[in-house]
Amino acid sequence: MRNSDEAWARAGSQEVAVIGAGICGTWTALMLSEAGVPVALHERDGPDLMGSTSRWAGGMLAPGCESDGAEPVVIRLGRRSIDLWRRHLPETALLGSLVVSHPRDRGDLDRFARQTSGHRQVGESEIAELEPALAGRFRTGLFFPDEGHVEPRAVLPALHAELQRRGVPIRFGAAVDPAAAAGPLVDCRGLSARADLPELRGVKGETALVATDEVTLRRPVRLMHPRWPLYVVPRPGGRFLIGASTIESEDVSGVSVRSALELLTAAYTLHPAFGEARILELGTALRPAYPDHAPRIAVSGSKISVNGLYRHGFLLAPALGEVVANYVASGLRDNEVMRWS
Ligand SMILES: Cc1cc2nc3c(=O)[nH]c(=O)nc-3n(C[C@H](O)[C@H](O)[C@H](O)COP(=O)(O)OP(=O)(O)OC[C@H]3O[C@@H](n4cnc5c(N)ncnc54)[C@H](O)[C@@H]3O)c2cc1C
Repeated sequence: MRNSDEAWARAGSQEVAVIGAGICGTWTALMLSEAGVPVALHERDGPDLMGSTSRWAGGMLAPGCESDGAEPVVIRLGRRSIDLWRRHLPETALLGSLVVSHPRDRGDLDRFARQTSGHRQVGESEIAELEPALAGRFRTGLFFPDEGHVEPRAVLPALHAELQRRGVPIRFGAAVDPAAAAGPLVDCRGLSARADLPELRGVKGETALVATDEVTLRRPVRLMHPRWPLYVVPRPGGRFLIGASTIESEDVSGVSVRSALELLTAAYTLHPAFGEARILELGTALRPAYPDHAPRIAVSGSKISVNGLYRHGFLLAPALGEVVANYVASGLRDNEVMRWS
């Protein structure tokens, strides 16, 4: 038996402190609670999570689209997460993702088709059936039926309410220093844990939130783009999140003019009615990433760190939480994602 296994076995029925109420800590607390482990969730910010990365995400649950260049573990855990979203939040929109390209970018669409799985080719009429607003605008595309999307700013409060319903205390405005904490804990501080995780870096992402009544989309639509995969995610109330840049920079002082132009142009080329939409917000945040862009669950004595969710926090958090809960409650290990020290 390893030292960490002994430490967690000794922890017995002690309350586990989960630190950070972003998507990672929230799902980890939920899965621990479901496994019968006493748990409390501690968050530095208020319920709006202004300083979290999760607040700014697209919220796409897209293991197929993300299989382009991602480690296999991302796809495996991503597919498992979809089941967990479905089970715990049955209202989760699981309507698939649509990927389209303009004729000049057809080569990029073909490459994307070769490098991803879980899709089928769709022609003009099926695109029109799936998304009537795009009728006549694109001749070919890819449809990924087994994907979904959530609105981060709605789903995080819903998950927090579910935790409270289960009797899990959530302490907002409560910063915890894991080095000073005595009991068993799971550190889900995202990029704020960087001082303890020297390999972690932030990868800048920028988004635009716009509103228009002139376009209706049911599911995320990705538009092939020579530099970034650009997407438009529908939100309730005629709002659309347009994302996202991927830039090796930790400057979150603002969205660059160039990124704003590219995001808004992408939406406009998807549908010209976006030209009349109102810009509600330009947002930027840092994705916490390890060098291989895969997540890690690092176990050291009775402390566990879950981090490096990169572009896939909403996609991966449920399954990562389940891996943590399986280990804490039953000693089960997932060697593809867990590390010991
Ligand atoms: C523009 C953009 C678009 C994205 N789109 C998607 C997408 O479509 N799908 C997807 O799956 N992923 C997406 N992501 C990635 C996703 O947002 C991240 O992987 C995820 O939010 C990381 O979550 P986290 O819980 O690890 O970190 P965070 O969300 O940053 O949460 C960490 C929390 O810990 C708290 N904290 C920090 N220090 C302390 C302390 N000492 N004590 C207590 N609390 C503390 C912070 O306040 C914060 O609330 C996107 C990211 C960006 C930037």
